[in-house]
Amino acid sequence: MAETMKALVYRGPEKIGIEDVPMPQIVEPDDAIVRVTTSTICGTDIHIWHGGMPEVEAPRIIGHEFVGEVVAVGPAVRNSKVGDKVAVSCVTQCGECFYCVRGIYSHCTTGSWIFGYMIDGCQAEYVRVPHANLGLFTVPEGLTEEDVLFVGDILSTGYFGAENARIEPGDTVAVMGSGPVGMCAMATARLWGPARIVAVDMIQERLDAAVKHGVADIGLNPAKVNVAEALREMTGGRGADRTIEAVGAKGTYELALDAVRPGGNVSMIGVFEKPQSLPMNTLWIKNIQINMGLVNANRIPELINLIQTGKINMNFLCTHRAPLNDILKGYDVFGNKKDNCLKWVVTPYVK
Ligand SMILES: [Zn+2]
Ligand SMILES: [Zn+2]
Repeated sequence: MAETMKALVYRGPEKIGIEDVPMPQIVEPDDAIVRVTTSTICGTDIHIWHGGMPEVEAPRIIGHEFVGEVVAVGPAVRNSKVGDKVAVSCVTQCGECFYCVRGIYSHCTTGSWIFGYMIDGCQAEYVRVPHANLGLFTVPEGLTEEDVLFVGDILSTGYFGAENARIEPGDTVAVMGSGPVGMCAMATARLWGPARIVAVDMIQERLDAAVKHGVADIGLNPAKVNVAEALREMTGGRGADRTIEAVGAKGTYELALDAVRPGGNVSMIGVFEKPQSLPMNTLWIKNIQINMGLVNANRIPELINLIQTGKINMNFLCTHRAPLNDILKGYDVFGNKKDNCLKWVVTPYVK
């Protein structure tokens, strides 16, 4: 194999570019090296690009949502072999530390954690995957890479948000934010049998896409209607049974708290850059439950099953595709929400 590869390297806020970097190597016995065949740009990458995540130290290869082919494995890797097509969990997990044995993989203490954050990521030709026994999932025959592209990150995150919302059959679920993560939360919220899923977003095209592709039943645009009032109107004056915040911004945060009915649940999966306040004087009496956190990505096999049987299909999110060579254009188009871009799919570098 070559000594170097192409990768998108973060050098500091607003400073990213394609560079020649050393090929990743097997370091630990349970490492695998994966050739990245399809990856994406995620909203978190945009936060990193703008310097919103100061924990990310330069130089760092960004990117954490990908599918690829195993090209090398360490001697302790049992669950994958060279040549396997795999979807990869964005959260690496040792399976043995205090948090992993409790299923809280997002806080694994072995120090590897998320790709493109604490360790080098997937906007590259190859990536080193620590703890490969737990983080690689074989892509079943008959499924394309794009079919399973989102299982390791945004679809797991959407599922985590829907699971934390404690949805019951017949509920009205409102998802604040109809971006890719919000739409994944809507698609997985369906699994609990709600009566209606309401998408909320300022971008009308995103609401239309959510309804057109069946992940939401109704779209509400805060620029046109009072969303909390509209939700109360459709629920006998009560408000949504469950709300999910999938943006990480003040407006959607406050709406998620305001629009939920007494005794309901609020689930936060948006990535916030700034502190927010909890209006306890009005919230306390509502008896709501609030859940939040970083995805544990512990449902990837089930999500692949659901995709295989047609219960979940997020392919419509793949609105743009271009090779790694053109990824800076992707940061501009996806990052600035241009051209109705929902997801920028990155295909291999073209020499
Ligand atoms: Zn992500
Ligand atoms: Zn662990």
